[in-house]
Amino acid sequence: MGLRKLIAGNWKMNGLRSDGLALASDLARRVQRDGLGCDLLVCPPATLLLAVAEALPGTPSNEELAAFYDQHKDAGCSHVILGHSERRTDHHESDALIRAKVNAAREAGLIAILCVGETAPQRDAGRTLEVVSRQLAGSLPDGMKAAQLVIAYEPVWAIGTGRTPTAADIAAVHGHIRAQLQRRVADAASVRLLYGGSVKPENARELLHVADVDGALVGGASLKAADFWAIARAA
Ligand code: PEP
Repeated sequence: MGLRKLIAGNWKMNGLRSDGLALASDLARRVQRDGLGCDLLVCPPATLLLAVAEALPGTPSNEELAAFYDQHKDAGCSHVILGHSERRTDHHESDALIRAKVNAAREAGLIAILCVGETAPQRDAGRTLEVVSRQLAGSLPDGMKAAQLVIAYEPVWAIGTGRTPTAADIAAVHGHIRAQLQRRVADAASVRLLYGGSVKPENARELLHVADVDGALVGGASLKAADFWAIARAA
C-alpha cells in the first residue's frame, strides 16, 4: 500500500491576518463537513518572526537557528519548508545553510519539508538528476528518520508558470530521489516525496497518481480554499 498522501499549501508571504483566518477556517469547515483521506497542511508566513530574522544582517548562527525553530514549534507549527528555490536563489541559501536549518528544525521537533529541483537551463542540459542528487547530498543531514522528513521535488521552471513535467519525468526524478534516500535514511521507503510546481485542480489527479508521488506542495492554488480543497480531494 502507498504512503498516506500529504497535500501542503505554501502560502509564502501572502495574506493579512484576516485572509489567513478566512482561508484556514474555510478549509477546517470542509474537513469537518466532508472528511478527508489524506493529510492537509498549510504553511502560512511566520509574519513577525520572519520579518525580524530577515531584518538581521548576515547568516544566522546555529544557536540562532535553534531558537528560531523553537519559537515556531512553540507557536504550534509541525512542519517547516526549507530549501525552496526562492530562498536558494533570492537569499543565496547554500546547501550547507539549508542542512544547518534542517538540523535545527529536527532538534526543535519540526518536520522539514526539504525542497530540491532544477532550473530550466539545467533541465535543458540534461542535468536534472545530477542537480537533485547534489542538492540532496549537500542539504540532507545524516541520521534523518522518515518521521522527521518530507522531500519536495519542485522544478524551478514549473513554479508559478503553469508548466509541469510529464508524468514520466516526475516518476524518473522521484524514483531517483527514493534511491538516493535508500543510502542515507534507514526507513527511506516511508519518506513522503511531494511533487510541487503548478499543481492545480485540473492536473492534480494525474500528478498525484504518478509512481512515488506521495503528495503535493502547492503554491498559488493553495491560496483559494476551493482549489486547495479540490487538490486534496484528488489525493
Ligand atoms: C511553490 O511556490 O512552491 C509552488 C509550487 O508554486 P505554484 O504551485 O504556484 O507553482
